Amino acid sequence: MQQSAVDRFWSKVLKGPGLDDHYLFLGAVADDGYGRYFLRQDGRDTSVRPHRYAYELATGVPLAEGEVLRHVCNIPICVRPDPGHLIAGTQRENMLDRVWDGRHANGATWRWRGVGREIFAARSRALRDAALEHGWNQDILNPLFSGIDPEAPTLF
Ligand SMILES: [Zn+2]
Repeated sequence: MQQSAVDRFWSKVLKGPGLDDHYLFLGAVADDGYGRYFLRQDGRDTSVRPHRYAYELATGVPLAEGEVLRHVCNIPICVRPDPGHLIAGTQRENMLDRVWDGRHANGATWRWRGVGREIFAARSRALRDAALEHGWNQDILNPLFSGIDPEAPTLF
């Protein structure tokens, strides 16, 4: 791994100042609400999920096929490779997590804490945009972390 590639990745991440703060990925967010980091790997352009990339950078070990990385902090664009934020586990454990949180595949619609995939992606992008625009501003970020968007229309 070239140091310049590592530096380029972390230049797209906003790290909170607190000991336990999230590290927010400020690059592209795909329709699934997770980031996409574009890089050249093995001579071709590819995209990776930034939280997996960050975790592999930190551990120096590629995640195995089928090995999932769980966001225990519930912030999909968080890339902090620490146990309070990301934990590697099996698909089975991840499914149990989803059931536990009440988020699970329901037909074609992914749900996460009761919201649909579109809202979930919109929340990820709103969080990223706020971090890009304001930097680490706790007053602005906190409501977004908890999923409360003051400008969102009431759904019910
Ligand atoms: Zn986090």
